Formats: sequence, structure tokens, C-alpha cells
Amino acid sequence: MSIQPVGSRRHRVVVIGSGFGGLFATQALKRADVDVVLIARTSHHLFQPLLYQVATGILSVGDIAPATRMVLRKQKNAQVLLGDVETIDIDAQAVTSRFLDRVTVTDYDSLIVAAGAGQSYFGNDQFAEFAPGMKTIDDALELRGRILGAFEQAELSDDHDERARLLTFVVVGAGPTGVELAGQIAELSRRTLKGAFRHIDPTEARVVLLDGAPEVLPVYGGKLSRKARGTLERLGVEIQLGTMVTGVDADGLTVKDKDGTERRIDSQCKVWSAGVAASPLGKQLAAQSGAGTDRAGRVEVQPDLTLPGHPNVFVVGDMMSLDNLPGLAQVAMQGGKYAAHQIIAGLDGQDPGQRKPFKYFDKGSMATISRFSAVAKVGKLEISGFIGWVAWLFIHLLYLVGFSSKLSTLLSWTQAFLSTGRNEMAATEQQVFARIAIDRLREHTEAAEGGTGAAREAG
Ligand SMILES: Cc1cc2nc3c(=O)[nH]c(=O)nc-3n(C[C@H](O)[C@H](O)[C@H](O)COP(=O)(O)OP(=O)(O)OC[C@H]3O[C@@H](n4cnc5c(N)ncnc54)[C@H](O)[C@@H]3O)c2cc1C
Repeated sequence: MSIQPVGSRRHRVVVIGSGFGGLFATQALKRADVDVVLIARTSHHLFQPLLYQVATGILSVGDIAPATRMVLRKQKNAQVLLGDVETIDIDAQAVTSRFLDRVTVTDYDSLIVAAGAGQSYFGNDQFAEFAPGMKTIDDALELRGRILGAFEQAELSDDHDERARLLTFVVVGAGPTGVELAGQIAELSRRTLKGAFRHIDPTEARVVLLDGAPEVLPVYGGKLSRKARGTLERLGVEIQLGTMVTGVDADGLTVKDKDGTERRIDSQCKVWSAGVAASPLGKQLAAQSGAGTDRAGRVEVQPDLTLPGHPNVFVVGDMMSLDNLPGLAQVAMQGGKYAAHQIIAGLDGQDPGQRKPFKYFDKGSMATISRFSAVAKVGKLEISGFIGWVAWLFIHLLYLVGFSSKLSTLLSWTQAFLSTGRNEMAATEQQVFARIAIDRLREHTEAAEGGTGAAREAG
């Protein structure tokens, strides 16, 4: 299939990704004399910063993942295509995407690539089977099932050691995601599940947060890191720093301490939140344009966020590397809007050489640690505790997409923070086992196809 222009052929902007970068770029083109084709592998826009709340039963999927098509339904110049982009040909100015066995080629005049980043296991991808990451809705739902499933299995066990293993939750990576998740698993066990079992005491669950770094939330450092650590410890989270993970299996992890000692942590439920790798599309773009990539596979872009020699191809958000900018939602949103404005200026006759470089406006960053406690850094201003938490609450509500998402999130938060209840405590077998089953099916299919190919070649 090849995508034809919507109406008469106008300048066509293809946007890859419906995350913060892609959506904000598309919306910034609303009044422009262009046709926008947004291609993404998921049908929703995902508010990743609240994924951990889906994993721990506070929010529903719908609260943080509105359908992109619905968000853009009034933007007449925008068309949404579901598809996994497999190749970008920057000389032919074409993007090839696939949805199931349907392949679509979309030509572009301008391209904005905002395909984000995935989890990195630092070369140990085999860890993923036992320690899922936290990047997608599927990840969050799987994790919810694994967390709640561990409590259920512990209730059924008569064996002391097995119960201890089932009630040990390990979060690898003490960045914002790891800290938020560890804090919420602790609150879930101490508050929400208290009194809900007859044979186990869920409040005795062990929550371990470990990291190779010497402090939690190293991006904040100093006082805020110490405050975050203190709050987590008061919640009962066990913090192990300077600790590297050397192995992960079904029953636990092997870790190495600073002094070189290796030891085991027996744990049924492990979560990986310790590293990112940019979308592999970055490598394609770098190879075709001569741009470099950094250690996380992010594309080293020009000051106007484009590829060298290709002023019509922008790379924004978690996929781009520029001036050590962090992988934050604001960087992606501002990058997406900047790219859109350069395209509009180009249509008004501006030469790409006249573009002002992208300038990131740092609005600060924040992480919640528990109910009523967060840390935030805005420029030199450091806020923590209840005031930080109120700021966190308002800012997250502000940036959630859609009025109904804001309203339902507010209701769920009222329930979760003012009472002990959480609305989203259901988990299904499919959520827990589907990822591994799909991976195995894929391996099986690939092996079968490879076998046939080899046989053909041999014949
Ligand atoms: C758990 C978690 C918590 C976070 N918390 C915070 C926080 O508190 N504050 C903050 O500022 N930032 C936070 N971040 C980071 C923030 O979410 C990212 O920086 C931001 O989402 C980056 O936006 P993006 O548009 O570059 O990528 P994304 O938002 O990741 O979007 C990528 C899009 O590309 C699509 N895509 C990927 N590959 C393909 C392909 N081959 N074909 C088609 N489509 C594709 C995806 O489906 C998705 O729609 C968090 C991230 C995570 C994972």
C-alpha cells in the first residue's frame, strides 16, 4: 500500500511516534498548510511518567493512554496510521511501516522522528524474561500481575523459604522510575493489602531497591537524594547501593557488591528500570546521514535537531543526543514543537541556514517517593516533602492529555491517597504470561522459517 495525499498534494510531514515528541509536533502543525501523517506502533499516546501507577493498581490504562486517533480527531490535516516503522530511506524520502502483514510506504517532504527509547539490559537481554522493564502499557500490566501474583502464591505456600522468596520484590535501578516503583510497592503492601490475606502478612513483604550508583536519584544528588533515601527507608524499602546485578533467573538475582563479593537475593518478582537504549531507527538514520550516535544509540543531531545534510529530517525526544539534554518529557515536547515551527517557517520562505538553534527551557524535574512526599528541582530551587508532592500532583494533572483523563485520574488519586483502597487491582493470566509466550512463538516461527530457508539454500 502507498499512502496518497489527503485531498490535494500539499507539503507532507510524516511524524514517527505518538509519544510526547510526536504528538506535540503534530499538534503544533494544526494550523499549518501541510498534511501530517503520524505513524506509530501503538494506537495510543502514552503518559510514561505514570506507568508505575498502572503497575501498582492506582490508575487504569485509559487514564494514561488515550487513543491517538481520538486526541487528533478534530485536527483535520492529521492522519493516524498504525504501524511499526521498519525502514526510513532519507534519500528516497520514504518511510516503510508494517501492521501485521500489511506494508505501507509513505513519502514525505519533511520528517519528524520521535520513536523514543526502550529498556537496555546492558548486553544482558536474557534478564528480560525474568525482570521486565517499564516502558509500555503491556509492561505495566504484566508487572501488576506479577506483583499481585506473588502475594497470591505466598498465601498458598506452606514453605517458609518459598514464602520469603515470593514476598521479596526487587527493583533494579534507583533513578526516578525505580524510586517511584519501589515506594509504591511498599505502600501497596503496607497499606492497601494490609489485612486482605489470611495466611501471610503482606506488610512484611521485603522491597529491595538496588543500584550500582552510590546514591538514589543520582540525577538530583546531594540533599534531595538523601531526603528521597530517608523517605524510602521509613516506608520500609531496603536500599542496596554500589551493587551490580550479574545474573537474573526465575528465582532471584545474583549481585556483586563494591568489594567484589557475589551474593544471591531470592525473589520471585523483579523489575528492571536501569537503562535505556534509543529506538534502533536511530542507527538507520545515522548510517544514512553520517551522524554519530552516543552510547545509548541516540542520534547526534545538528543544533536545529536535524540530520547532517538533511534539513528536512528532524530527530527529537529520547532518540536525539544534543548538549547532554536528559531523556525527559519536556525535552521531547519542546523538540517536537520546535521541529514543527521550523517546517512552518520553511513554508513561509525561511532558509534552513537561518534557523535559530533549539533551546531547551528547563522547567525542572520531579519524582514522587510515596503518598504526600516528592522531590523536585527547578533550576537552583530544591523542593521536597509535601510541597514537592502537591507540585508533582498539579504538574502531572496539567500534562495529562484530555479532560476525561484528568478527571478520572483525579478521582483515582483521591481514592488511593486519602483511603487505603486502589481501584485497579485486577490482573489476568494473559497479562502475566503473554509477553513470554509471544516471544517464544516468534522465536519458533523464525526458527521454522530459517530452517525452511536453509533447506532451500541447501537444495
Ligand atoms: C516509566 C517512566 C517514567 C518516566 N517518568 C518521567 C518523569 O517523571 N518526568 C519526565 O519528564 N520524563 C519521564 N520519563 C521520560 C519520558 O517519558 C520520555 O522522555 C518521553 O516519553 C520521550 O518522548 P518521545 O516522544 O521521545 O518518546 P516516547 O514517548 O517513548 O514515544 C515513542 C513513540 O514512538 C513509537 N515507536 C517506537 N518505535 C517505533 C517504530 N519502529 N515504529 C513506529 N512507532 C514507533 C512508540 O509507540 C511511541 O508512540 C519517564 C519514562 C518512563 C519509561
